[in-house]
Amino acid sequence: MEEYKNSYEQIPMRKGRKSKKRNTLNAKKVLFVIFLILLILVVIIRTHKKDNDSYNNLGENTTQVSASTDDKTEDETSNKDKPKKEITDWRLTLVNYENLLPEDFEIEVANIDETRQFDARAIEYLNKMMNDMRKSGISNVWVQSAYRSVERQKELYDNSVNKYINQGKTQEEAEKLTDEYINKPGSSEHNLGLAVDFNYVDNKFEDLKAFTWLQENAENYGFILRYPKHKEDITKISYESWHWRFVGEEHAKKMNELDMCLEEYVEYLQNVDE
Ligand SMILES: [Zn+2]
Repeated sequence: MEEYKNSYEQIPMRKGRKSKKRNTLNAKKVLFVIFLILLILVVIIRTHKKDNDSYNNLGENTTQVSASTDDKTEDETSNKDKPKKEITDWRLTLVNYENLLPEDFEIEVANIDETRQFDARAIEYLNKMMNDMRKSGISNVWVQSAYRSVERQKELYDNSVNKYINQGKTQEEAEKLTDEYINKPGSSEHNLGLAVDFNYVDNKFEDLKAFTWLQENAENYGFILRYPKHKEDITKISYESWHWRFVGEEHAKKMNELDMCLEEYVEYLQNVDE
């Protein structure tokens, strides 16, 4: 009986010791978790400060910490708040339906031949590309159209609109149809002097060896297919196999690697962290 009593008494004692141990263990765990959370908070706040120097007050830091529980929210928050970087590289000048060239836009052009001109800073790359293409046995390729003044662009645009009007379209319909292939004056890359159209300026060009060669090699000379089929919804220009744009070798290669058209690539550069 005594033995039983003793052992009975021992049980709660042992239990007590055990739970004391467990309490110590739990306390250690809790301290460790608190330490981890503090560490994560410090890292988040420091990263955030680096991201944006204007985030100096506590209120915004708190917002950032709570946003960080959801990666998506955090990304969206920081992208929205981060100022976009300015792209100053002349080779990446974006000209399209919403980015018109300023009226006073001027470039120095050099002659491709008697009638055609290209940006003087980029013409050597165009010439080298054409020469190497011919050296590789492709002879039926020529530059049909390159630099075009804004006045010339206006002429082309108006001619096209008139053509459709003569076919019975309204002014609005005619402009819509024209917009698919001809940019409004000031919004064409040809006004910029960094784009070339090859051969007959139609999509039969993609059946030629020249097109295949360009797809494989143009990036080495800094040229990209500017209006690909699968980017029509972004460029707002119908697929043009004949229209190639100079952006410089490193950008052309990166754009092909990322499968981005110029609109996407410029936006990517504006937001990317160095
Ligand atoms: Zn073109």
